[in-house]
Amino acid sequence: MKILVLNAGSSSLKYRLFRRSDWQTLASGTLSRIGEPQGELRGHWIDEQGRAQDCQDTLPMPDHSAALQRMAHRLRESGVLSRMEELAVIGHRVVHGGEAFQAPKRIDEQVLATIQRMSALAPLHNPANLAGIRVAQKLFPQIPQVAVFDTAFHQSMPPAAYRYALPAFLYEKHGVRRYGFHGTSHAYVCRRGAALLQRPLERCNLISFHLGNGASVAAVRGGKCLDTSMGFTPLEGLVMGTRCGDLDPALPLYLMEQLGWDRARIDQLLNRESGLRGLCGRNDMRAIHRQAEQGDPQALLAIQVFCHRLKKYLGAYYALLGEVHGLIFTGGIGENDPKVRACACEGLQNLGIQLDPAANAASASEARRISTPESPVPILVIPTNEELEIARQALAALDG
Ligand code: ADP
Repeated sequence: MKILVLNAGSSSLKYRLFRRSDWQTLASGTLSRIGEPQGELRGHWIDEQGRAQDCQDTLPMPDHSAALQRMAHRLRESGVLSRMEELAVIGHRVVHGGEAFQAPKRIDEQVLATIQRMSALAPLHNPANLAGIRVAQKLFPQIPQVAVFDTAFHQSMPPAAYRYALPAFLYEKHGVRRYGFHGTSHAYVCRRGAALLQRPLERCNLISFHLGNGASVAAVRGGKCLDTSMGFTPLEGLVMGTRCGDLDPALPLYLMEQLGWDRARIDQLLNRESGLRGLCGRNDMRAIHRQAEQGDPQALLAIQVFCHRLKKYLGAYYALLGEVHGLIFTGGIGENDPKVRACACEGLQNLGIQLDPAANAASASEARRISTPESPVPILVIPTNEELEIARQALAALDG
C-alpha cells in the first residue's frame, strides 16, 4: 500500500507519495501558479529500475481540481501509482486546528465544518487547505482522508504557556491565545532525536529549533510540547526571514499614530518587510553570510539579532524544562548553517552545552550529533521531514 500527502496552498499544491512497507518516497512534486494562464508541475519519482527521474511541465491549471487531476495523471504515467486504490490514505496538511484538534483526524463533514470555522484564525492558509481536501474527496471518494494539523502538537501546552495576559473574555469568546505552529516538524525531529539519543521519548526533555524562512523553537517534555515561540499567529517569537518575531505590542499603535499607517501597511511591515530582510535587505541566510563576510555591517547585525534571539529562547526553555537531554537544530538554517548553530550555543558550557567545532562544521545531510562526546547536553542536527510525519500520523489515525 501507499500513502499520499497533500499540502494545498492558495495557488500551489505539493505532494509526496510514500511506500508503506519501508516509508520510501516514491514520488514528490509541486504544482504552482494554479489559477494563472500557465501553471507549472515539477515532479520527481523513482522509476521501476530504481533510478531517480524528474520532469517539468507547463500547462494551464485553472483550479485545484485540475491540478490534482494533473498530479494523478503524472503519478500514473510515471508508474508509481497505477490505480488510486493502491492508496491506504491521503494525509492533508492543515495549518490551524485551533483547540478543536489535538491529534490528526479522519475527515468527515463535521471535521470540514470545524476546519472552516478555524479559518478566521488562519485566513491565508485554512481556506486553501480546505479547497485541497474538498477536491481530493470529490476526485478520490473511495480513499480515506485524514487532516494533520500544524497546531495539534502544541495543544499539550499548559494554560500558563498558552494564555496571554489579556482580559479573559478575549480567550473565552474569541480564541485569543497562543497556538504555536511547525508542530509536525517539532514532533518529527523530537521522535528522531530521542531515537538517536537511545532514550525513550517519554523520558526526554528536548529543545527543538526549526530554523527556516519561518522559525520557531519548542520546549518538549516527554514528547509533549510545554511551550513554543510562535503564538496566536506565526509572527511571534524568533527573528525570521521576513517576519519580526517578538515586538513591543505598543509599536503598531505608535506607527498608526505617528506615521498614519493602517492595518494593511502594518501587516505588510511585520510579515513581509521585517526579520532578516528588514535588518539588512535580504532574507536568504546564505546571501547574508556572504554580505557579512564582505564586511557589510547591516548583514552582520542581522545575524547577531537572529542569534541573540535564539540564545534568549534557549535560556528560557532550559529554565522551563529544568533538565535538558538534547538540543535539536532543523530547517534550512538549522540543518545547514554551522555559524548560526555555533553562535546560539556559544558560551553555554556552564549549562552543559559544548559544541564540537569540527562536527559542527562538517557538511552532511543525515541526522548527526555535533556536540563533544563529553557534553552533558547532546546537540543534534536532524533534517526535518514534515511529509513523512504527516504520512505516519495519517496512517496511525486511520488505524485508530
Ligand atoms: P522554509 O521555511 O521556506 O521551508 P527552509 O527550511 O528551506 O525554509 O529554509 C530556508 C532558509 O535556509 C533560507 O534562509 C536559506 O538561506 C537557509 N539555508 C539553506 N541552506 C543554507 C546553508 N547552506 N547555509 C545557511 N543557510 C542556508
